[in-house]
Amino acid sequence: MKSTGKVTGIVSNLVTVLTDGPVSQNEICYIDCGGTRLMAEVIKVNGKNAAVQVFESTRGLKNGDRVEFEDRMLEATLGPGLLSSSYDGLQNDLTSMTGVFLKRGEYTDPLDHGKLWDFTPIASPGDKVVAADWLGEVREGWLPHKIMVPFAFEGEYTVKSIVPAGQYNIDKVIAVLTDESGDEVNVTMTQKWPVKVAIKGYREKPRPSRIMETGVRVIDTLNPIAEGGTGFIPGPFGCGKTVLQHAIAKQGDAEVIVMAACGERANEVVEIFTEFPELIDPHTGRHLMERTTIICNTSNMPVAAREASVYTAMTICEYYRAMGLKVLLLADSTSRWAQALREMSNRMEELPGADAFPVDLSAIISAFYARAGMVVLNNGKTGSVTFIGTVSPAGGNLKEPVTESTKKAARCFYALEQNRADKKRYPAVNPIDSYSKYLEYPEIRAYLSEKVAPGWVEMVEKTKNIIRKGRDAQEQINILGDDGVPMTYHEQFWKSELVDFIILQQDAFDPVDSVTPMDRQKYMLELVLGICDKEFGFDDFEQCRKFFNEAINLLKQMNYSEFGSENFNKYQEQLNNLISNGK
Ligand code: ADP
Ligand code: MG
Repeated sequence: MKSTGKVTGIVSNLVTVLTDGPVSQNEICYIDCGGTRLMAEVIKVNGKNAAVQVFESTRGLKNGDRVEFEDRMLEATLGPGLLSSSYDGLQNDLTSMTGVFLKRGEYTDPLDHGKLWDFTPIASPGDKVVAADWLGEVREGWLPHKIMVPFAFEGEYTVKSIVPAGQYNIDKVIAVLTDESGDEVNVTMTQKWPVKVAIKGYREKPRPSRIMETGVRVIDTLNPIAEGGTGFIPGPFGCGKTVLQHAIAKQGDAEVIVMAACGERANEVVEIFTEFPELIDPHTGRHLMERTTIICNTSNMPVAAREASVYTAMTICEYYRAMGLKVLLLADSTSRWAQALREMSNRMEELPGADAFPVDLSAIISAFYARAGMVVLNNGKTGSVTFIGTVSPAGGNLKEPVTESTKKAARCFYALEQNRADKKRYPAVNPIDSYSKYLEYPEIRAYLSEKVAPGWVEMVEKTKNIIRKGRDAQEQINILGDDGVPMTYHEQFWKSELVDFIILQQDAFDPVDSVTPMDRQKYMLELVLGICDKEFGFDDFEQCRKFFNEAINLLKQMNYSEFGSENFNKYQEQLNNLISNGK
């Protein structure tokens, strides 16, 4: 039963409606604004009154305007063709419009209904299936895209018939199933799912047990993120959040990438449209966009659409995870999403929490992060969604509510530091404050010991200690002067500089240095720690400085050379000579 209603009040994008029947929380409705249909979502119901947030400008809307409720929640359309697409938060197709946004009240179809896909059946007549089971497969780019029993199907079904291998469009009935009472249902290659509800359809969600390589040394070596794990990057404006996220997108060991750009500035979103399609995938040598979906909203779009975008993005990720794929979700910046929540909550005149954010901000953020994870599917295969969000705290203050709430939800913390960015020490991740809780998991420690090196986590701890001791030494040198401290302080300080320049710093724009595979990260860390283990006994601090400057210079050249190349070996030899000569 679909209800209707009439507009009774308008505060910017928040509209109150008097309804003639039942409406439910998060239900979608359309408001007729002088012939333009504006989409909105119910955010509060109180008797016959509903508060709805409109996804567009409410310019010209007046009391008495007619509202039609849809008896469904905000849904994402799922099916082959999502990859290499760009959408806004409501899944309007932006691919064809290079930076020009839709007219008000215009909604486009997310998938191409004419395109033919090469379908191969997986299931056979007589098979018993449940929601999310694989019925068949098409090739989407070079990825196998599974056609599944729709997630909304409850109970067990029997495959009655399935089409033979061939070319079909997404609306073609590829299978007929019968439910437990014998009724027939048709399955096509597309289905819909409410974005605010997590997609289930898997057997279990165990703790992450392996790491996801990103090629970024401050992450992989120092604070690795797990496959199916969560992390976030807080940092002041201009410290390198977007550059770091793009590096992870390009290099991360994932099959599907979903970028949710919640628009810091309008031109950043245009940049993502122009830059991303150009990027070459280091794993396949093809366009990265072939396995990427971009969901974007700029800050000049209404706030409600921004809130929807992160959910739409997560739903698409869960869809690909159900196919047994490794999915990486990047959201930049989740602060814009939180601000959208704040604006709506303020307009509803709810009792505000800290800094006027909604009181349940923490719960909302946690629930969202909890949708990431590694899952074991019904067929025993695994799939994962790894999620990394950025947070842009006003004035770089890490004590603000969005950062604090996210800290509770995410298990990796990569804090970008103004001070490091000012000194051009990129990526400006603070090596002391940042952490990965996955390093505490016994299964992750075992994984690292086996896959990277025995005792790897101890080596990482040691590296962090060198940085800490270096900071202390530097403080003493600053207070007491170069001559006022023992030589060992200088040596300590320079050892931490060695770690900083060679392991922490990484040029995101150099073709070689930007991506460091794990075996190379291990090699370089062992090399650096080998030097740090030595006590050189320098005569004076000038000698110490000179030695380390030379070592840093040679190791940097190694970072810029292909691993194991002639150049690489040449610098390695020079380094060996330098070390054996000592001072
Ligand atoms: P934010 O998203 O935090 O506002 P950006 O990611 O846009 O910041 O980075 C700002 C600038 O910092 C970049 O345009 C670039 O010049 C520099 N930068 C950031 N990270 C790196 C890096 N890893 N290597 C080189 N330059 C970087
Ligand atoms: Mg940015």
